[in-house]
Amino acid sequence: MSSTLTDASPVHADPADGLAVLEQRKSRAEMFGIPLAVLAELTHRCPLQCPYCSNPVELERGGAELTTDEWKRVLSELAAIGVLQIHFSGGEPTARKDLVELVQHATDVGLYTNLITSAVLLTKDKLAALADAGLCHVQISFQGSEQGVADRVAGLKDAHAKKIEAAGWTRELGLPLTVNAVMHRQNLFQLADIIQMAVDLDADRLEVANVQYYGWALKNRPALMPTIEQIDETSRIVEEAEAQLKGILAIDYVVPDYYALRPKKCMGGWGRQFFNISPSGKILPCHAAETITGLAFESVRDHSIAWIWQNSEAFNRYRGTGWMPEPCRSCEYKEIDYGGCRCQAFALTGNAGNTDPACALSPVHEQIFKTAMAEAAGDNRRFIYRNFAGGTLEADPHGA
Ligand code: SF4
Ligand code: SF4
Repeated sequence: MSSTLTDASPVHADPADGLAVLEQRKSRAEMFGIPLAVLAELTHRCPLQCPYCSNPVELERGGAELTTDEWKRVLSELAAIGVLQIHFSGGEPTARKDLVELVQHATDVGLYTNLITSAVLLTKDKLAALADAGLCHVQISFQGSEQGVADRVAGLKDAHAKKIEAAGWTRELGLPLTVNAVMHRQNLFQLADIIQMAVDLDADRLEVANVQYYGWALKNRPALMPTIEQIDETSRIVEEAEAQLKGILAIDYVVPDYYALRPKKCMGGWGRQFFNISPSGKILPCHAAETITGLAFESVRDHSIAWIWQNSEAFNRYRGTGWMPEPCRSCEYKEIDYGGCRCQAFALTGNAGNTDPACALSPVHEQIFKTAMAEAAGDNRRFIYRNFAGGTLEADPHGA
């Protein structure tokens, strides 16, 4: 057997598109069903306070984070088992002082690197240093199309202006740019402007993601839930933009679960195509998995990553279809959507082993649909901002 870890088979993708090239390679990971791309949440520290943040409500403190050497060992281990891509995320990954060193190490071991950032801590020099270290791609999150809405949602003054500036540096340095926009009742009216903003920023891709309601977003659901009319309008705007911007801007669109009839194939199925690594080194089947109480997640400090992926109780509990209750067990879609999202099932029914209530066949689907309609029609606009103190209620603009 060859001693190389990835098999450089002939590649037909555009060589300028590093990710497409990598995806065409065969990797040893595929033999063991290990994901080709992994999300590394380097820290939960973040200067922003988004009310829908996908981090757990119980944030991990800085002192618990993996050290530089531990992260380097993790990156080497990922490359050795055949992972091809690493997404550096958080919290805010640039809050780690060793980010350039980690990107350099990832490059040295052959990983394709993507930085998922709020961008407010970036300087042009820092971004240039990351590019020199081999950073391949930058993804910047935006909270709105202009500073009034965007800074309010982010809970940070001047955040929007800094993001616009960082997006410009990204393109000046020749790095591909993805704009990420998380949408909800209080910013959906800006969607058309956000699409135009992504074009003006010369982004390659725009991710329009409706809020997923667990963790911080569940706490903030009454202030975030869109109306069904907004969702219809969103779909129309995205469809039109996709047609008009073909070849200029690729748009990914994630529909909101509460108004769906069938659940999404969350994470490609629990423990099938994805894992992420928490700041303290826990390997998780999805970024929200720790919202499910009663599951113990193993750490890279105690086991190898491949062992955790293959053997840990948390990954095996909801893998495949054997765990499914009715109506999933006898459903023709069970190997298409794998019963939907475990975190959402837990959040809405108290049992992660239930059918995702986003499914119209779930006994509680109608109830969540009605809850969504009622909350969307309500007048609760104040956010509970995400922070280490467990959240802070936004000041009442009317001073009540
Ligand atoms: S969603 Fe907002 S608060 Fe959460 S990590 Fe991202 S930028 Fe920070
Ligand atoms: S019953 Fe289960 S498998 Fe069938 S569509 Fe609903 S969630 Fe999917």
